[in-house]
Amino acid sequence: MMQRITILGATGSIGVSTLDVLARHPDKYRVHALSAHGRVDELAEQCRVFRPQRAVVGSAEAAQRLAALVDGLGIDVAYGERALCEIASSDDTDTVMAAIVGAAGLAPTLAAARAGKKVLLANKEALVMSGQLFMDAVREHEATLLPIDSEHNAIFQSLPAHYARGPQAAGVAKILLTASGGPFLNRAVETLSNVTPDEACKHPNWSMGRKISVDSATMMNKGLEVIEAHWLFGAPAEQIEVVIHPQSVIHSMVSYVDGSVLAQLGNPDMRTPIAHALAYPERIESGVAQLDLTQTASLQFHRPDFGRFPCLALAFDALRAGGTAPALLNAANEVAVQAFLERRIGFRDIDRVVRGVMDDVAHGAAASIEAVMAQDARAREAAQRLVAGLQGAPAPTRAAAQVAG
Ligand code: NDP
Ligand code: MG
Repeated sequence: MMQRITILGATGSIGVSTLDVLARHPDKYRVHALSAHGRVDELAEQCRVFRPQRAVVGSAEAAQRLAALVDGLGIDVAYGERALCEIASSDDTDTVMAAIVGAAGLAPTLAAARAGKKVLLANKEALVMSGQLFMDAVREHEATLLPIDSEHNAIFQSLPAHYARGPQAAGVAKILLTASGGPFLNRAVETLSNVTPDEACKHPNWSMGRKISVDSATMMNKGLEVIEAHWLFGAPAEQIEVVIHPQSVIHSMVSYVDGSVLAQLGNPDMRTPIAHALAYPERIESGVAQLDLTQTASLQFHRPDFGRFPCLALAFDALRAGGTAPALLNAANEVAVQAFLERRIGFRDIDRVVRGVMDDVAHGAAASIEAVMAQDARAREAAQRLVAGLQGAPAPTRAAAQVAG
């Protein structure tokens, strides 16, 4: 049986890796729909190669350009959130790769879950923002949720098949989430204020989109992943431990009450978790070279330094606070990272903006998607105000504030 696939965020790092795996198995998978936001030329090229039935972009203008570029291929071109939700929930698709970056991925990813699809989840922000609502939708509509994030995919592979009954029943003592520590693991903390977006995006082991690359440099990415693990595996914050492992060979581990530790290892290439989830419970080739352990130098592990990586501590705080606190954290972080990438604020301002929003905006119950989105909007406004304040501050004041904060 051909599996019909929709890729949300096809032009991104995960989207391109997904298409690479699909191209290796034309007998198993067919692309139903692809989406992008603004990179129309890249999407048009993908359309020529993979011939989807539908393609969705971010605006009317982008749709017009795409339609001209794919004229004659019989592809239905649309734009906007509603169209994204349609291709995610269509009767003509079996599997949805959720690989839009940020909060923009929430509505279509949720639409896929509500339509009972097999959801391959890369868009961790959706789960961070609305974990309970999302997991409820998966259960209620009998969707299949498979993690793409390499750590969560590794944990999934290291858990028993009957895991749905929770950590206690499965004898799980701890989930050990590995983290490379990013490009600034060993850089002098006092020099971090001056790092550029390009330096922050230069990840030592993984090649990824710019937003998640900055998140890796602040370790907010690991913080979001702690929250993601909480929802995916039903584990409380106390049962999730972050371990720095700079080589990114072990992608995460599960520690059991009998003293066993199970891990998943591999070369750091997202095509492995993508292929795993696409074919689950079978296995298919992904194009990733086999791991040669004799060529792997020593593997190191140590505890994270929360002083160097305050965003990691803020994420644990948000998880413990519950309700809409993680949605506030995520929205503030998205605004701050965007401002940093546009060189409007410095690297160390990112955690200051996130902390400022967490302090200023009261969180509430995440009772509905509307409530979550309202909190998301409030957090974005507050974050923009803080960013504007930082932009206005002369450099010496900012440096002093950073030391104080
Ligand atoms: P990229 O920035 O490389 O790609 C993002 C994709 O989303 C692009 O197709 C982009 O379109 C689209 N997009 C951006 N903004 C919007 C919007 N407002 N509405 C609709 N579509 C939009 O990101 P990554 O591939 O790196 O990451 C995607 C997701 O996967 C993130 O949630 C990330 O955390 C997660 N992830 C990524 C990993 C990786 O290795 N890259 C690893 C683990 C998780 P366009 O190209 O047109 O701008
Ligand atoms: Mg990850």
